[in-house]
Amino acid sequence: MKPCPSCGTDIVINEGYPLWCDRCDWNLAIPAKIHRSTSWERMEVKMRHSYGQSLFKELQEQQGLLTKKGMRNHHARPRKNGASHD
Ligand SMILES: [Zn+2]
Repeated sequence: MKPCPSCGTDIVINEGYPLWCDRCDWNLAIPAKIHRSTSWERMEVKMRHSYGQSLFKELQEQQGLLTKKGMRNHHARPRKNGASHD
């Protein structure tokens, strides 16, 4: 038994388990939070990576289409004008 540094309740020490207080959850939140944040971070990184890549690809395709369209229009206008003037 060990007194909880947070609320003073005697903590029962279980072998193989991290020391934690079941009354105020002292020391329980820290390992749980780390575990949760790592798994979340891994998922977030994975999601951000795949989302960012697909978004980047989409933007590249959109930019390519816009550039092609703009170039096509730019080339078509002077040709049409020149033909009508002749
Ligand atoms: Zn406590």
